[in-house]
Parts: sequence; structure tokens; C-alpha cells
Amino acid sequence: MHLPSIVVIGSQSSGKSSVLEAIVGREFLPKGLNMVTRRPIELTLIHSPELAEEYGILPQVSQEKIFDFEDIKNHLSRLNQAVPEDQCVSKDPIELKIYSPSVPDLTLIDLPGYIQVNTKDQPRYLKTRIAELCEKYITQNNIILAVCPADVDLANSEALLASRRVDPKGARTIGVITKLDLVDPLSGAAILDNRDYPLQLGYIGVVCRKNKFGNDITLSHPAYQGRGLKVGVSTLQQTLIQTLESRLASGLHQLDDALQSELEEVRYQYKVEYNDRLITAESYVADSMDILKHRFKDFASSFGKAQICDQIRATLEQKVLDVCARLYWADADILQLNYDALNNPHWQGKLDQAAALLTKCGVGKLSTQLVVDTLMYHMDKISRAEPFVHHEDMRRKIIQFSNDIVKQKLKSTVDQVENTIKPYKFAVDCNSEEWSDARKRTIALLKEEITLCDASLSKIKQAVGTSNLRKAINHMEAQSPADQGVHFSPKLLAKAREAAWLRERRKTLRYRLAMSKSRTCKSSSNKTICPEIYLNMVSSKLTTTAVMFIKVELLDEVFFQFPREVDTHLLYYGLTKEQIAQFARQNPKIARQLQLKDARTHLEHAASKLSYLIREMDS
Ligand code: GDP
Repeated sequence: MHLPSIVVIGSQSSGKSSVLEAIVGREFLPKGLNMVTRRPIELTLIHSPELAEEYGILPQVSQEKIFDFEDIKNHLSRLNQAVPEDQCVSKDPIELKIYSPSVPDLTLIDLPGYIQVNTKDQPRYLKTRIAELCEKYITQNNIILAVCPADVDLANSEALLASRRVDPKGARTIGVITKLDLVDPLSGAAILDNRDYPLQLGYIGVVCRKNKFGNDITLSHPAYQGRGLKVGVSTLQQTLIQTLESRLASGLHQLDDALQSELEEVRYQYKVEYNDRLITAESYVADSMDILKHRFKDFASSFGKAQICDQIRATLEQKVLDVCARLYWADADILQLNYDALNNPHWQGKLDQAAALLTKCGVGKLSTQLVVDTLMYHMDKISRAEPFVHHEDMRRKIIQFSNDIVKQKLKSTVDQVENTIKPYKFAVDCNSEEWSDARKRTIALLKEEITLCDASLSKIKQAVGTSNLRKAINHMEAQSPADQGVHFSPKLLAKAREAAWLRERRKTLRYRLAMSKSRTCKSSSNKTICPEIYLNMVSSKLTTTAVMFIKVELLDEVFFQFPREVDTHLLYYGLTKEQIAQFARQNPKIARQLQLKDARTHLEHAASKLSYLIREMDS
């Protein structure tokens, strides 16, 4: 909303300065024949009823109160003359504030007077410059005070000509007729009653002659009285105040309308898009942390003993298969590992060696790291989902402190597991149930291995063709002279070698499967010839022990600490007010919602202040 100012325009010597001084009630404007106003003067009058002595302030000079108005005049002269001769006029206004009990609250802008013709010593463009400067002020929505001397025909008034260009209907122009004492009262009254150049705000007649009786004597003539004509400086003051107020009021009403429709629009949007749900940056942070904790809780309840047991068992069983492959299935005498070998020291020694390989493979580190990796994989997943996709910093923080919690527990957990499995490095006993369980699992695992062998074999067959493969294998195995002339590519030979190996492995595995299924392997006392089952039983024991300690030492601790760390690091102590606001803004959806909500709050606030102002004004 543009608050209007009162802009004073008129020709040189029309009496502009005198009118302004009359409104203020003091002389403070520099005058004289050579003295042209070169800069606009922004004159702010501040009604100060308590003041014993009136004063002025020129903020561009200093904040000092100037009580001597002669001083103000000198300052203004100086500031005016500071405009270089060749520039003639400057757009840069001089600010002057006057505090007095006898002035109304008004802002007036005094502009350089229009000149009719340039005198010899004035630059040619002075006239245009002045006109342009005045134009700038009167084209805005300001109230124009057009000062016209009574002794000059209104048709020639520069001020009225200029104001009519920007305010053709005369809606915001007040005509001020000066020097009424220089014309006879009847002609004077005719001017004030002007019908040739009507102005909605009318004409006001004043006399600002130095003669202290002049004012009263002229204006008290019957020609000016009782006909609804407006005369006198105080009438001028009143009119200015009323005009300002009514413009202000209509401005406020317009502003109120604009504000209300904007507010309606924003309220509607908020309702439609967010169902009026209230949100603050703080509530968003709290909700986000809740989501994080919930997701973590869901994960924690799905990741217990059973799950880590499965993981560790699978890893150790793989280890068992590796050990068996290395120590047994690759042994050239493997087909002799049967009932006859029960007390054979070679096989007995092998079993001890195999068990040692398994128990000394770093079960503590292996199993704990496995669980930690799974844990961190899930933490990463949790911290990447909505709404954290928008909060990379936060995500990093979550991973950081999760890592810290885990790290604190990692070493002690590894040590605990290793310590507890130590006895197994010397001997592992089991009951028949444990043995039969291991036997069942071994049979399944061997079957799976055979299936894998079959799959690999058929893949090779598919790749090179069954008959090619057979020929190549025969060639490799027989090296018969008949095949001398046939050429096999190195690639095919490599495949043939692999296939032959797989067949051997399958044969061994089938044999071992048959053995494991046999009656002999039903009893743990025959473990020497059932190494797969024995090692599986050992891995099972290792798994149970590892799971127990990892659960207590690591998982339970992490599950307990994580939500607390969220509170400490992220919620209650971790984030400053600015960080909370910044966090919320990172999410574009929330940023928009908050922005809309803020806009609504501000508009509501402004609207309530405005309606108060309007009520006051209307009453
Ligand atoms: P400005 O150039 O428009 O600011 O005009 P001034 O206020 O300086 O007035 C120019 C001359 O007209 C001065 O000598 C004033 O004394 C004189 N003057 C101003 N108002 C009146 C008035 O109402 N009656 C008479 N007789 N002279 C006036």
C-alpha cells in the first residue's frame, strides 16, 4: 500500500514557500531572488503537544535538535547550493523534520518552482529538468497542492497544467490560491468558486503576506464569507489532514479486501493440500524420529536369535563343506573311508585335523562380523527410506552413531565368543539327538552339493555339446592312438577337464551320501568314518554358542541403545532451533507446507491488525 504524501508545486514566486511556512507557522525556507529550490525538501511535521519549544532535525546533517529556525534556513541554503551549477536541480531530496505543538502530522514535499522562461544566466535545460523532477513526484498517487497566485490568470498556472496532466479529473489536487490580497475580493471569490477548472477537493484561498494583519483583513471580507468558500491557513491544514485520512481509509479498505482474498486463497490451499493438518518444524523432526525408531523397532523384532542362528549356521556349514572337500573328497583313498577304516589312525588323525580347522577358523570374528554387517546393512536401508531421503546429513549421522554403538561392542563380543568355544578346540561331545540332527542336515547338504554338481555338468554339456564333450573326455582319458589325428581346442579341453572333475566329485559325493545314510553313520561313535556329520555337529555347537553371546553382548545392547541415541543425538539435545528449521526445509514437501502455513499465520495476523485499524478509523 502506497501511503500518499503531499507534494507542493507552483511557479517561482507563486508563494509556495510562504504557504509551507504558514502551515508550519515558522519561517525556515531560504528565499531571495537568486535562490531557486534545487532539491526537493521532504518536510515531515510531527505534532508534539508536550513540547515547550519547537525544533527541527536535518537527519542528513546530524541528529541534533535545531531550535533556531534561522539555522535551519542556513543549513537548507547550504544543502541546496551543494548541487553543482551545471546540474541545476537534483533528484536527491533534503530531509527535514519539524517537531512542534502547533503542526499537524503531515509529510509535505517542496519541489523547485516551475519557471516560465530561462534567464540569461540559467542553463537552457533548467526548465525541462524542473518539470521532469516535479512530474516524478506528482505521477505517484500523491496529493497535489497546486499553488497559484491570485494575480495571475489560472489558465496560465503551471501548477494546474502539470496536475491536470496526471490527475485529469482533479481527484487528488487541491488548488491553493495565494496573494488574494492583491486582487479585489469579488474577483478573488470568483477564483475560489472556480467552475472553469473544477477540482474535487476544491480551492482554498490564503494570504501569506508579511503584514501580520493582512490575512485577517482580506479574508474577512464579506465576499469570502458564508458562501461555502474555503479560506485561511487553518482551513488548509484541516483540509490536508482530512484528505490524507480519507485516502488512508480507502487505502486500508482496499488493502483489507486484497488481504482477505489472499487469506481465503491460502486457507483454501492449505485445506485442500494438507487437510488443515498443523505442522511445525519441531513436529516434523519429532515425527521423523518416531518413524526412524518405529522402523528400527520393526527390524529389531524381526532380527532375533533365530535369524542370526540361520546366518551363522549357513556360513559355518559352508566352511564344513570346504574343509571336507579339501581334506576328504580330494583324498585319493576316499572310497576306502568305510566301516573297515573305523580304527584306522590315518582317518582318525584327519578327523582331528578337520575339527581343528573348523574350530580355529576365527569363529568369533567371522560370526560377529556377519551379524554386524547384516545390522549395518539394515541400518543403511532404514536411514535411506522416506523422509530421510531428503536429509543426507541426518542419514550420515544415523549411520555414524550406529557404527559407534556397534564398534564399542564388537571387540568384546568377538573375544567372548572365542573364549567360550575354546573347549571345542580340544574335544566336542554330543548326544544322540544332536548327532542325528547333524546327520539329517548333512544328508540334505550332500544332496544339495550333488545337485550343484549336476547343474554345473549340464551347463558344460549345453555349452559344448554332449558328444563333443564325450569325445574330448575320452581323448583326454584314453589318449588312444586312434584319436591322434583329431584336434581339440584348448577351451574344449579345459571344459572336458572340468566336467571330468565334476563327475569324480559327484561320484565321491554320492558315495559319501550313501555312507551318511548308512546304519554305520547313525551312531556318533563311528565318527571317524562319518566326518561330514561330525563336523556338522561341531559347527552346530559353535553356532549355538556364538549366537548366544552375540545376542546378549551385541544385539540386545544395540537394540537398547539405538532409540536412546536418536533422542540424544538428534532430538532433544542434538539440534538447535535453526538446525530444526533447516532440517524441515530440506524436505521440499514440508518446506512448502511450512511456507504456506507461515503465510497463513502472517496474513491472519496482518488481517486482524488491519481490521482493528479500520474499526478505529471508522469510529
Ligand atoms: P515561491 O518562490 O513560490 O516560494 O514564493 P515565495 O513564497 O518566496 O513568495 C514570493 C513573493 O511573494 C515573496 O516576496 C512573498 O513575500 C510574496 N508573497 C507570498 N505570499 C503572498 C501573499 O499572500 N500576498 C502578497 N502580497 N505577497 C505574497
